[in-house]
Amino acid sequence: MAIQFDNESENINMKVLVLNSGSSSIKYQFIDTEQKFALAKGIVERIGMSGAVLSHTRHDGNNVRIVAEILDHTMAIEYVLAVMLSKNHGVIEDKSDIDAVGHRVVHGGESFSGSVLMTDEVMKVLQENIELAPLHNPPNIKGIQAVTRIMPETKQCVVFDTAFHIKMPPRAYLYGIPYELYKRHKIRRYGFHGTSHRYVSEIAASMLGKPITELKIITAHLGNGCSMAAVDKGISVDTSMGFTPLEGLLMGTRAGDIDPSVILYIMGKEGLSLSEAGVLLNKHSGLIGISGESSDMREIESAIGEGNKRAKVAFDVFTYRIKKYVGAYAAAMGGIDALVFTGGIGENSSLVRSTVCNGLEFLGIEIDEKKNTAKQNELSKEGSKVHVLRIPTNEELVIAMDTAEIVSAL
Ligand code: ADP
Repeated sequence: MAIQFDNESENINMKVLVLNSGSSSIKYQFIDTEQKFALAKGIVERIGMSGAVLSHTRHDGNNVRIVAEILDHTMAIEYVLAVMLSKNHGVIEDKSDIDAVGHRVVHGGESFSGSVLMTDEVMKVLQENIELAPLHNPPNIKGIQAVTRIMPETKQCVVFDTAFHIKMPPRAYLYGIPYELYKRHKIRRYGFHGTSHRYVSEIAASMLGKPITELKIITAHLGNGCSMAAVDKGISVDTSMGFTPLEGLLMGTRAGDIDPSVILYIMGKEGLSLSEAGVLLNKHSGLIGISGESSDMREIESAIGEGNKRAKVAFDVFTYRIKKYVGAYAAAMGGIDALVFTGGIGENSSLVRSTVCNGLEFLGIEIDEKKNTAKQNELSKEGSKVHVLRIPTNEELVIAMDTAEIVSAL
């Protein structure tokens, strides 16, 4: 079945440069929104460090790797433009062939429920939200400022990881702490990976041939970071990541759900500072923490194959928690029509998918092992009540489509 991205901007003909700016890297894709196709993609890594490198691939497979001194985000984007313009590896003849630039921004706080055109006002709010995402928003802002410097005439839009979840009801986003602290410091569940949850839920609806407004969908984005969402009638009504991307599922290196007292206890026992505790929970926990082996699911699976018991228990914690969230979100929505797996693990690990689904037959979830190992899109048994779907995510396409829609309406 052809997968359709059910978006109003479906036929807008634009070429959008999509940027995902991290602290020392920038990922990019140059997308034709009419064809829904990446004309080129690449990454600049080690920005500001010795031996920075730009890896660029054109749609026809032509590729190049350039090692250079790339001191900051502005220089990095200048390099990206230079390679996009180059005779041997390029895809444009002039900078003006880039109709607009779309940026991934991690945290929109409570201010944004959708993607927006970049303005001075928006920049002000992004700066205010830095406190909520101190590691992510500053490099995102650097990317926007760099484009403003290099291509001042080009329209820019920002697409937030948090926006899709902003319609959650208070019962899902409030923590059990004094309400004043929510008001004073904006401490609440925000949720992340929103662009991916939104995309795969829309694709799921189109695969099932039903309006999304008639469906209850549970989406599981399982990559290095992992989160789930309960998407009821097209609206995210709950999600597993919280105030930060640390809450919820077990992840490659992040702990996910934990009794907050454990953190205080460890800090006392091990004499850890606040920031050391943060590093412990974000970088040394999750799959790597339990297994002592790897944060990478492929390596966990092969260690299990070699009889590694800690790898097996890490895998069990990982899949058990996903299963619990399926139950929780089915309860939250009063039913489930489709369970969607996406992200590097969700798309590729048939073992994770079958382990999660095994035992959920009472909910109407019945996975067909043949379809599962053959990596089909529809994985459920013929006639089963719930559709189990494997849908490759495409956050860059969503960013390009949103950007095209906003800019074309100006
Ligand atoms: P990110 O969150 O950084 O975008 P990805 O979505 O690419 O990451 O997911 C990375 C994860 O996907 C890693 O744990 C990796 O081991 C896992 N993965 C990729 N391919 C497979 C596979 N064939 N089997 C199991 N896990 C896989």
